[in-house]
Amino acid sequence: MKDGFGRQLTYLRVSVTDRCNLRCVYCMPERGVPLVSHEDLLTFEEIERVVRVGVALGVRAVRLTGGEPLMRRGIVSLVKRLASIEGLDDLSMTTNGVLLAEYAAQLKAAGLRRVNVSLDSLDPGTFAAITRGGDLGEVLGGIRAALSAGLAPVKVNCVPLKGLNDREIPALVSMAGTLPIHLRFIELMPVGCDGAWFRDRFVPAAEVQSVVEEVVRRSGARLSPSAPRPGGGPAACFEIDGYRGTIGFIPAVTGHFCGWCTRMRLTSTGGLRPCLASDTEVDVKGALRGGCDNSRLAALLMEAARLKPWRRGMEYGASDERRMSRIGG
Ligand code: SAM
Ligand code: SF4
Repeated sequence: MKDGFGRQLTYLRVSVTDRCNLRCVYCMPERGVPLVSHEDLLTFEEIERVVRVGVALGVRAVRLTGGEPLMRRGIVSLVKRLASIEGLDDLSMTTNGVLLAEYAAQLKAAGLRRVNVSLDSLDPGTFAAITRGGDLGEVLGGIRAALSAGLAPVKVNCVPLKGLNDREIPALVSMAGTLPIHLRFIELMPVGCDGAWFRDRFVPAAEVQSVVEEVVRRSGARLSPSAPRPGGGPAACFEIDGYRGTIGFIPAVTGHFCGWCTRMRLTSTGGLRPCLASDTEVDVKGALRGGCDNSRLAALLMEAARLKPWRRGMEYGASDERRMSRIGG
């Protein structure tokens, strides 16, 4: 499946819920998030159908996300369904890690390959402040459980925020020294948060990289670029002698990835979104519930691909329509 500019769309992010057990400051407001009713969510059968048709059109990787995907009841059975689809080479999940200690082994047994865990701080107070009440110990336990379950590689995603967690970059770097994780620093995006707040908190990836380089240099080591891996995504990744893990930087805002974008998103309510930064959405739930056949479904996927813009123009703002928790981060 190609978009109107010849880009091959091989990667589908599937949001399985808009609900979350945390309220990260850059993602959701503390209160008053309008919640989707259960009937409006795609069922597992519906998600599986869309993924199967996507795979027939060339999708090779699916990432389950949300909201918090582990909040969706029966998530392990969805993993099992999707893992059995022939031609789907990679099945992964992005989670906040709160429930991961409980689920890691079951997810692995059901066929999940790997996880990305979001972790913005190693200080319990700062972690609770950024997530508005999260328990750091639960997430660290989740990361350990994912490593021992063999959900490899375990990627740990951190969004540096000026004045909130930017002092912790050295502590996070040392975590990659002792654990075999892929630590990635991701730029804050102007999605789901207020524009003025975004401008105050934004830390460019280049700035984070120079802090990391300095920390590593002082320890007498150096960063060397890892060989690019197929499907490795937009991160610039580095290895450090003596470190068990690797470190990457994702300039989600300052980088210009659009030309290489292979993604499409399926929202929890059954909308196909060709681009995170645009509100364009193709409704597949209506078609599924209206009894459409697979060729109609394939036509809708291709229609969404055709609508993918060449590049984004990210609007600042926190509209409910363009929240990562709704679209699937
Ligand atoms: N709840 C899960 C989690 O936190 O990993 C999955 C969904 S969450 C929306 C996916 C990712 O989006 C998280 O790593 C989170 O840090 C990131 N995210 C959310 N809002 C963001 C923003 N405004 N800028 C950058 N990353 C953001
Ligand atoms: Fe929840 Fe993930 Fe958004 Fe944090 S980033 S509020 S954990 S959906």
